[in-house]
Amino acid sequence: MKTINDFNFENKKALIRVDFNVPLNDNFEVTDATRIISAKPTIIKILEDGGSCVLMSHLGRPKGAQEEFSLKHIISEIEDVLGVEVKFASDCIGEEAVQKAEALQPGQILLLENLRFHDEEKKGDEAFAEKLSKYGDIYVNDAFGTAHRAHASTTIVAQFFPEAKCFGSLLAKEIESIDKVLNNSEKPVLAVLGGAKVSSKITVIENILDKVDHLIIGGGMSFTFIKAQGGKIGNSICEDDKMELALDILKQAEAKNVQVHIPVDVVAADDFSNDANTQVVDINQIPDGWQGIDAGPRTLENFDKVVNQCKTILWNGPLGVFEMENFAQGTIALGHSIANSTKNGAFSLVGGGDSVAAVKQFGFEDKVSYVSTGGGAMLESLEGKTLPGIAAILS
Ligand code: AMP
Repeated sequence: MKTINDFNFENKKALIRVDFNVPLNDNFEVTDATRIISAKPTIIKILEDGGSCVLMSHLGRPKGAQEEFSLKHIISEIEDVLGVEVKFASDCIGEEAVQKAEALQPGQILLLENLRFHDEEKKGDEAFAEKLSKYGDIYVNDAFGTAHRAHASTTIVAQFFPEAKCFGSLLAKEIESIDKVLNNSEKPVLAVLGGAKVSSKITVIENILDKVDHLIIGGGMSFTFIKAQGGKIGNSICEDDKMELALDILKQAEAKNVQVHIPVDVVAADDFSNDANTQVVDINQIPDGWQGIDAGPRTLENFDKVVNQCKTILWNGPLGVFEMENFAQGTIALGHSIANSTKNGAFSLVGGGDSVAAVKQFGFEDKVSYVSTGGGAMLESLEGKTLPGIAAILS
């Protein structure tokens, strides 16, 4: 696996696919610069080698060249994060970009306008990718968030750099973290899967059953398992058409010697609202009119024991409706358990969707081993798929 550390960028132009798809407020100010900060080590290493950087990214889902999605809005934020002036080409292809890339000197940065202003980007158009390829001597992919897309800048462009392509340090770290959980893991290995729906996690569950010793199923999706086992779940969310599948997953787990841990009690609410009345009940005895909305205290105690006996932990999906303050306790408690296990030497990876938001919101970001930057890309990796953006660098 080639990374930026395998190259000396002195007098070289690096064409870097970054993920600067950052959230903006109504004044076009960046409200969360995490993605820019995450790309900093790669960019700085290249500049310090004596190279220059041509940065390319998408922002949002524009239909054509819509000004509101222009990357010009984030130039000053990038300059603040990197401490380096950023030049800008107002179209990612064409004469201006060609000239500005050509004139780039060691130590300088050029940002190209939003790649998705051209339909060719998402189509993975080869001619478009070839135009982009002309800007650099070495292609660096540091955008995990789009590594599951075979777009021109994430995948197709790599073919024009047969000997000079590599992973940026962020993408390399993502790959290593996934590998540490799925392939080179220290046992016992635990996966905690929560969130709303079984259906969105089936492929993940099926793939990781071969890799883990323990599986915790929490959050909204646990009710499909409970009902399938004959429990009363009141008005809790449930996918009736997935009940058979849930039983099949439990059977597969047993055959594979995976210990499955399902909640035993639950905080039930009489309304899907932060101000609802609540009671703690056994998870298979939820009264009609009430719905399970957060993990109960006995469940959290059980989960804590499992988490603290494992050496490798993957966490995907919250244990309750953490967006409502009164129902965030289960997710917070799990965060504490994982933080504690990590402090005692476990490797913990948080990835894929809402658990990342929860970990950030509740301040666990620095207390787990790694927080993934790519939702969809992480889920597809956990499903066992080879991501096209990664395969293109490895080939
Ligand atoms: P996912 O995107 O599949 O990880 O699902 C995350 C969502 O699951 C969050 O928005 C949570 O509010 C929701 N969730 C977790 N537990 C429950 C529950 N018991 N009832 C309803 N929604 C839940």
